[in-house]
Amino acid sequence: MDQSYDAIIIGAGVIGAAVGLELARGGRKTLNVDALPAAGYGSTSNSCAIIRVHYSTLDGTALAYDGYFYWKHWADYLDCLDERGLAVFHDCGCLVMKTQQNDRLAKVLKTVEALDIPHEHWDAEQVRATLPGYDLACHWPARLMTDADFGAPTGGALEGGVYFPTAGYISDPQLASHNLQRAAEATGGTFLFNRRVVEIPVSRGRVEGVVLDDGTRISAPVVVNVAGPHSAPVNRLAGAEADMRITTKALRQEVVHVKAPEGLDFEKNGLVISDSDIACYCRPETGNHILVGSEDPDCDPREMVDPDTFNRDLTDQAVTQAFRYAQRLPALKVSQSPKGVVDLYDVTEDWIPIYDRSCIDGFYMAVGSSGNQFKNAPVAGRMMAALIDYCEGGGDHDAKPLRFKLSNLDHSIDCGSFSRLREVNQDSSFSVLG
Ligand SMILES: Cc1cc2nc3c(=O)[nH]c(=O)nc-3n(C[C@H](O)[C@H](O)[C@H](O)COP(=O)(O)OP(=O)(O)OC[C@H]3O[C@@H](n4cnc5c(N)ncnc54)[C@H](O)[C@@H]3O)c2cc1C
Repeated sequence: MDQSYDAIIIGAGVIGAAVGLELARGGRKTLNVDALPAAGYGSTSNSCAIIRVHYSTLDGTALAYDGYFYWKHWADYLDCLDERGLAVFHDCGCLVMKTQQNDRLAKVLKTVEALDIPHEHWDAEQVRATLPGYDLACHWPARLMTDADFGAPTGGALEGGVYFPTAGYISDPQLASHNLQRAAEATGGTFLFNRRVVEIPVSRGRVEGVVLDDGTRISAPVVVNVAGPHSAPVNRLAGAEADMRITTKALRQEVVHVKAPEGLDFEKNGLVISDSDIACYCRPETGNHILVGSEDPDCDPREMVDPDTFNRDLTDQAVTQAFRYAQRLPALKVSQSPKGVVDLYDVTEDWIPIYDRSCIDGFYMAVGSSGNQFKNAPVAGRMMAALIDYCEGGGDHDAKPLRFKLSNLDHSIDCGSFSRLREVNQDSSFSVLG
């Protein structure tokens, strides 16, 4: 082999860079290698980067709440300067509408109460006072705009929602990845860009390192797959998919950017909103824009694609999402040729990530982030470093999963809930909500 490291991380998106940072902080000589020209240029660059604390499972919620504190104290966590400045956490909070689909948040409330996560109940009046012009008429079930009944209220009105103050969004997600890169480098980590991993040699059941597209061979006893929507092909390079019960696929997603209506300063006064009655989530964006994503109702196409050749043009789906949000904000002007982004989620069967070892010793994966793990990048980095220490130290993670103690709350995660060997988690929302 031409070079050697203690650990190679395939990918330098927000999660890959965080794994690199935490392994370097643990004393390993690390290399993050990425096919793209800079950190966070993959799916991370188009992330909505929403930080929120409501998830469908206890461990998923605990991880997200722990993650919130890293963003809140970002400079302290990084403990290093970046010549490009630091990503900004806009902690505007998140309003989750109480709907029939989420059982008026009964399950989420139980979990957030168990973890002592701050929240407030808002009635319709308070929602309308915060969001002037808001129309709370019910529209479920969600439809495509080609449906004759699209946009017609279906009876009744939402009673309000639950506001979580420990939430917001990061701008920008690519810069956050660069911040993590600089922090890793300050600890001795190395990054290599514009190089694709094309081979992962394995000998006697143990990973040996990677081979790059220019023929360079790099050896390491630990290799971590953090290849985002390319996670499945990277697992195949190592033969790591052999025992996986939970798998990953690249799912195409559109996020539309619309101008806030006249008289509503959404950039200043807006917040993150999750509204399962209209199957949309949204957040403020610069220039008084609103960024609107889909909460994946059954009617929306689920388009699994080749991560190297997918269509990057917006389609009618983006227009549908804009019109869905106009059901709440009737003054919204919707263009037939909207602006926005198209990118990929790396989804699992239950929309819960895989943070795990593999059937090959020394080969690990932080994959299947299912459109909802940006917020968890720093804590996922720490958890992966702990998991790698545990396994490399002789721990049998498959039989006796690591329990990982969170830094910011008194809770330990059963890492088995993120195992590649788990059964599909029926508690999941089976959507981007996780
Ligand atoms: C449209 C959209 C909106 C989202 N919104 C949110 C949100 O609001 N909140 C939230 O928490 N999460 C959100 N997510 C999810 C979040 O952005 C991702 O979970 C996160 O960015 C994934 O980071 P990553 O480092 O795992 O992957 P990526 O950023 O995709 O990085 C993977 C990297 O691996 C590299 N790579 C792949 N194969 C190879 C190879 N063979 N050799 C070398 N390099 C390779 C790629 O070039 C890429 O840079 C969203 C995702 C999308 C697409």
